[in-house]
Amino acid sequence: MLDPRAFIHALPKVELHVHLVGSAGVDTVLTLARRHPEAGVPADRAALERFFVFRDFDHFLKVYWAVQSMLKDRNDIRTLVTGLAAELARQNVRYAEVTVTPYNHLLDGLPGDELLTGLVEGRAVAKAEHGVELAWCFDIPGEKGVRAGRETAVFALRERPDGLVSFGLGGPEIGVGRAQFEPFFTAAREAGLHSVPHAGETSGPATIWSAVHDLGAERIGHGTSCATDPALLAYLAEHRVPLEVCPTSNVRTRQVPSIAAHPVRRMLDHGLVVTLNTDDPPMFGATLEGEYLEVATTLGLRAAEVAALARNAVEASFLGEAAKAELLAEIDLVTLEAHAETS
Ligand SMILES: [Zn+2]
Repeated sequence: MLDPRAFIHALPKVELHVHLVGSAGVDTVLTLARRHPEAGVPADRAALERFFVFRDFDHFLKVYWAVQSMLKDRNDIRTLVTGLAAELARQNVRYAEVTVTPYNHLLDGLPGDELLTGLVEGRAVAKAEHGVELAWCFDIPGEKGVRAGRETAVFALRERPDGLVSFGLGGPEIGVGRAQFEPFFTAAREAGLHSVPHAGETSGPATIWSAVHDLGAERIGHGTSCATDPALLAYLAEHRVPLEVCPTSNVRTRQVPSIAAHPVRRMLDHGLVVTLNTDDPPMFGATLEGEYLEVATTLGLRAAEVAALARNAVEASFLGEAAKAELLAEIDLVTLEAHAETS
């Protein structure tokens, strides 16, 4: 491959698994920290950068909840969304489906209409100023149980903001069965939202089977543990159920020891629709370009194989057909140009 960094940058990219709160970078958090000094988050750049360095999962949670605690009104949400859009544009990411957890915001005292207005305004700025199209996934914080499931579904279906395309389920998996959320996923799917639960990140393949059978999953968030179940690998390949793979996140949370040991190789070998994503990028020290580069160099992928990952993300997205075709054509063009330069 020509310079892999340049090639990966040139590919128009799609991000399918990124949490809004977890997407906050240092610049965004600096703005929020200065706006909300009472939160006690460092408002000095050097101190904040130190606070942001990943240490372990508990510290990650501390950073995550510190950011969450500063989201008080529409301006804060808009700051978060536009900060994400600027970062996506910098990496030539054209479209992202961003996970928002309304239940947690409402619980923290952010009024629902402030959340929605911030999302709408931020999304408009993302498009107009950064050329990035954003869509939303509203997800259930699974650890908060069926009440959170019900309230998330009611909020999503009642408010139905522009750009809301899917319904998800996050949080811990062990002890949080997927099936209990079946009625809320059924309601969301009947209303036309796509089903994209997390499954098989921190638990075994049974959770992925449950996500498919009980929640009608159209894509799987993570799905890492599918690699241990040959029947599941075959099922996911046959039905072309895409996986939102987040390699750095999996290493950070110690679900896998290293990128080299990540089951992404096995998933690709079994013909699965693998997409690369970042989960909570600045908090895990990840970028989408970095994920492509790490996987490409570790697995020794050729340009066409890297391009195939970018194509998978476009095809697995909930973009309209015309927008998909446009991005796919551009990916092909960039790949052809890369071949022309190397031959
Ligand atoms: Zn996630």
